[in-house]
Amino acid sequence: LLQMAMPLNYLGMMYREVKQALTNIERLWGLLDEQQEVRDKAEARALQTTQPRLAFEDVRFSYDTRREILHGIRFEVPPGHTVAVVGHSGSGKSTLARLLYRFYDVDSGAITIDGQDLRALTQDSVRGAIGIVPQDTVLFNDSIRYNIRYGRPSASDEEVEDAARAAHIHRFIESLPDGYDSEVGERGLKLSGGEKQRVAIARALLKNPAILIFDEATSALDSASEKAIQAELDRIAIGRTTLVIAHRLSTVMDADEILVMDAGNIVERGNHAALIARNGHYAAMWRLQQQASEAAPT
Ligand code: ADP
Ligand code: MG
Repeated sequence: LLQMAMPLNYLGMMYREVKQALTNIERLWGLLDEQQEVRDKAEARALQTTQPRLAFEDVRFSYDTRREILHGIRFEVPPGHTVAVVGHSGSGKSTLARLLYRFYDVDSGAITIDGQDLRALTQDSVRGAIGIVPQDTVLFNDSIRYNIRYGRPSASDEEVEDAARAAHIHRFIESLPDGYDSEVGERGLKLSGGEKQRVAIARALLKNPAILIFDEATSALDSASEKAIQAELDRIAIGRTTLVIAHRLSTVMDADEILVMDAGNIVERGNHAALIARNGHYAAMWRLQQQASEAAPT
């Protein structure tokens, strides 16, 4: 009986390890507990692009068919431009990011990259072209070096460290007893929200993709680090096709176009000056944030 119990125990352990690894991958994108899975079509082709143009063409989407979340979204991000999305929480901003990364397919309409419908492309080629800093980053149970290098597995140690420096996390890592070999994740060091966000930023910097998505990428950072890292994000966005979801309007003032979302619709669009002049939703949000930042001790 003992002899039997051993391998069974071992199998149980392996099962848990594998399950944990899968869980990590799903969690990385906050997709836990979601069953729908997008699969490549048999005839799926690889994305062909150098200077990508993104387009949402009348996109409708629901997680649950009883409740539509996006009600016909249209916008474009021309090659090398930055489009920002703002709006109250729950308005559908992160859903745009998830659809672009193709966690789900749209119910109707289309999302295209250089005219190629995402549904006709391989997921690998789409995801390979996109660097995403999600709202919540979950780390792999592995070293912090592995977690950063995940952005580009072929990167050298030096490149990993340069990315960590740019994301202002290098000094923190070096202060750890095991440095870059420190184990992180559920079974290792528990990093703070801000530290995890920096790891995600380092990953995206290292990946050096043609398309960038920042989903409230600095929301967990204190305002001093936020300024420094925002400057770094602005720098890498230059010349890349970028979708920025912002919680702080000061970070999107320079965007080529700002979309204001409300309950799954784009209710206003334009650049900062035009939206202020319009004196609508955006102008009201702007005034509120100005008052809050004047009131806040710095
Ligand atoms: P935002 O990023 O603007 O805060 P989201 O895009 O995350 O908004 O969410 C838009 C709406 O979709 C919200 O009402 C939210 O509750 C709902 N939602 C988000 N994710 C899911 C999901 N996985 N399943 C069902 N509903 C979801
Ligand atoms: Mg969100």
